[in-house]
Amino acid sequence: MRQIFIAGNWKMNGSLEANQQLIDGVKAGVSAGINAEVAVCPPAVYLPQVADLLADSDISWGGQDLSEQASGAFTGQISAAMLLEMKCKYVIVGHSERRTLNGESDQLVAEKYVAALAAGLKPILCIGELLEERESGDTEAVVARQLNAVLDKVGIEGIGAGVIAYEPVWAIGTGKTASPDQAQGVHAFIRQILANKDANVAEKVQILYGGSVKPDNASELFSKADIDGGLIGGAALDAESFLGICKAG
Ligand code: PEP
Repeated sequence: MRQIFIAGNWKMNGSLEANQQLIDGVKAGVSAGINAEVAVCPPAVYLPQVADLLADSDISWGGQDLSEQASGAFTGQISAAMLLEMKCKYVIVGHSERRTLNGESDQLVAEKYVAALAAGLKPILCIGELLEERESGDTEAVVARQLNAVLDKVGIEGIGAGVIAYEPVWAIGTGKTASPDQAQGVHAFIRQILANKDANVAEKVQILYGGSVKPDNASELFSKADIDGGLIGGAALDAESFLGICKAG
């Protein structure tokens, strides 16, 4: 049995005061008893604050991105070692906003995944198709291409050391959720790619769904055989909504 995992991606939101309130609320709800594993990914500048607030809790935290480089003249970038020093357990890799807004290629995403693994971080690898790719029937080809770029670099054991998040780009921040059956179809396809390499690893890897998950659609999504939790954007910014999703797990 795979444990349900709920990760909040705060994106470029928050402030010292707002983070404190959000974390206080989430901590109170999680300590009252939740079956799912829970993590939050704040903007990097707030990692010390979040690490401090969550130090005595069961909630993990992670970065939203990392550099593929170890150190040096890379202005604005953050290394895996730095995230580790902030006691991150996770790091999101290849989020669609970075692929589309920052031009991250499959190759670069794979290099970032390698850097995360090498440092001992657990990468959350985001893959998913654009609306036009779904409409042209290319969903599986896109998802397979994005996954294989990483698989080719780190092997099935490397994928087994991370988490996958299937995030159809057309469902992110749009209020449009993939139906539970649509999502399950792609999750099963992803797991089959992994099973073709190693059935044991495929059985263990958590595959999260992301894209407008809310408390009222979470249970049905998480009840599907191959959906092992969610990567949550907008709803992770409100303690009540985020906890509502965590409780659905
Ligand atoms: C995300 O950013 O990964 C995401 C799923 O966002 P939202 O939940 O807001 O669609």
